[in-house]
Amino acid sequence: MSFIGKLFGKKEKTPVSQCKICKTLLEYNEGYALTTSEVVSSKEYWDHKMVEPETLGYTTAHFKQKDANATKMRGIIFEKTAEKDQTWLVCDTCIKQFEVDTNEAKKHALQWWESKGDYNPPKSGDAKAVLEKDTYEEIKEYATMLAGANKIR
Ligand SMILES: [Zn+2]
Repeated sequence: MSFIGKLFGKKEKTPVSQCKICKTLLEYNEGYALTTSEVVSSKEYWDHKMVEPETLGYTTAHFKQKDANATKMRGIIFEKTAEKDQTWLVCDTCIKQFEVDTNEAKKHALQWWESKGDYNPPKSGDAKAVLEKDTYEEIKEYATMLAGANKIR
């Protein structure tokens, strides 16, 4: 901000965003940018996601009552997340759920901010189109059948 700007109390708007996972406020240049494939490949992400308030009911019914509809819902939650065409800006805490190169993820975040949210890291978009078929099926199986088990039993 220029001296004159300061003198007259003119504030430049600082762009802000939110962590795509926990909704924590992120200020300009904060956070890490991940692709949908990187997000859905993390078992830890699913262990958190499947015990959130919106998903906990299905997870409890899946493990305790062996409820087939609840299991199906967990599969649908996986698919809906995996097909998201977005860049995942995540905070310092949430990045710990992912085994990724954090320096790279930081660099992608800086480009994301610089482009005002238009930038997508390489291999962004629908995870089904990006991941190997076996990898996709393996993580889908984990998310649907096993994720969150530790927090239920
Ligand atoms: Zn977060």
